[in-house]
Amino acid sequence: MPALNPYLATMPSGYLFREIAQRIAAYEQKNSGKHVLSLGIGDVTRPLPKAAGEAMAKAALEMCTVEGFRGYSPDFGYDFLIDAIIKNLYETRGVHLSQNEVFVSDGAKTDTSGLQELMASEARVAVMDPVYPVYIDTNAMAGRAGEYKNGLWSQIEYLPCTAENGFAPIMPSHYVDVLYLCFPNNPTGAALPKKELQRYVDWALQNGALIIYDAAYAAFVHSQEIPHSIYECEGAKGCAVECGSFSKLAGFTGVRCGYTVVPKELFGGTLNDMWRRRLSAKHNGVSYPVQRAAEAVFSEEGKRACRENIAYYMNNARIIREGLTSAGITVYGGVDAPYVWLQTPGRMSGWDFFDLLLHEAQVAGTPGEGFGPSGAGYFRLTAFGTTENTQEAVRRIRALL
Ligand SMILES: *Cc1c(COP(=O)(O)O)cnc(C)c1O
Repeated sequence: MPALNPYLATMPSGYLFREIAQRIAAYEQKNSGKHVLSLGIGDVTRPLPKAAGEAMAKAALEMCTVEGFRGYSPDFGYDFLIDAIIKNLYETRGVHLSQNEVFVSDGAKTDTSGLQELMASEARVAVMDPVYPVYIDTNAMAGRAGEYKNGLWSQIEYLPCTAENGFAPIMPSHYVDVLYLCFPNNPTGAALPKKELQRYVDWALQNGALIIYDAAYAAFVHSQEIPHSIYECEGAKGCAVECGSFSKLAGFTGVRCGYTVVPKELFGGTLNDMWRRRLSAKHNGVSYPVQRAAEAVFSEEGKRACRENIAYYMNNARIIREGLTSAGITVYGGVDAPYVWLQTPGRMSGWDFFDLLLHEAQVAGTPGEGFGPSGAGYFRLTAFGTTENTQEAVRRIRALL
């Protein structure tokens, strides 16, 4: 055997969604004729904005002409898309960015997983718990997470997010180099008012730490006091990078486009230079038709279609929230995020609640334990299904409880 990456070779396998699929399949096989409705869908289901599809098709055909052909795209994205991102997602919120601070990519997973390469191998990492697994897994593969024991990595600082603290992580108890934050949050559906988010920015500035801010769900923010970007907080350009995505904004999960903001102000320009250097070594950009499609998301027609799709999902979230609340269940989220996070009745384990819903109501969701130890006794339902299925699933849960 060649010398392999020992951290990757010994990674525990991600079993959550496989385990869920297996339990559903086993149930359906034993109970033929019973149809399980899923409120566990972690992917968008509404079609693309037509304006994006048309722009993508037009750009593809343009590439088939001598005049319109394009080879490699610029490593960091075409100016037309960078300008559209700055104008539509930042200027509108009073955040001013220059072109050389925005880096177009094929999605936020790529960037939230790649950003750890900016850190030293001994850097200390803190994450919210429960958490989107990408942040931990990629640090573990790089040898930064220590040993995996009883579901925890010894070198990762887990910051519990529970009903008691409003799903806002407690501040790290000792020095950490990098803090991953995600708001609006997957899986808890929590969103932080600007005043609250400012506390983490102030902490990072005081400690000279880096915040990696995942803003993948920014488009779902409706409440006035909730920021769409961490740069709405004072001083955030001095401590935070931000990842955004067209996936949940415009249904691009299968098209692939996102971006990362690395401000020039961050540690005297060092991080901007490092990210630029890394991307030019590792990336050859995002395809031209996809970047044209992303640009069209900001046309009047594109914006209208995105608003309609998001309203569709948020109506599902309301149906789940209201239906379960009136059945006596304590629910969180679902207001500025497409996720509803509920406390299981009698604080039973998420997996027991999963089995109960599956067997007695033929509804599937996601046990909170799958996202980290502080997810125990919680359960995630998503608003990404059809309204008909959402209504029927909520009706079944109510009938059961
Ligand atoms: C869906 C999601 C993303 C988006 O990832 P893409 O690679 O852009 O599709 C990022 N972060 C979180 C927490 C998500 O749930």
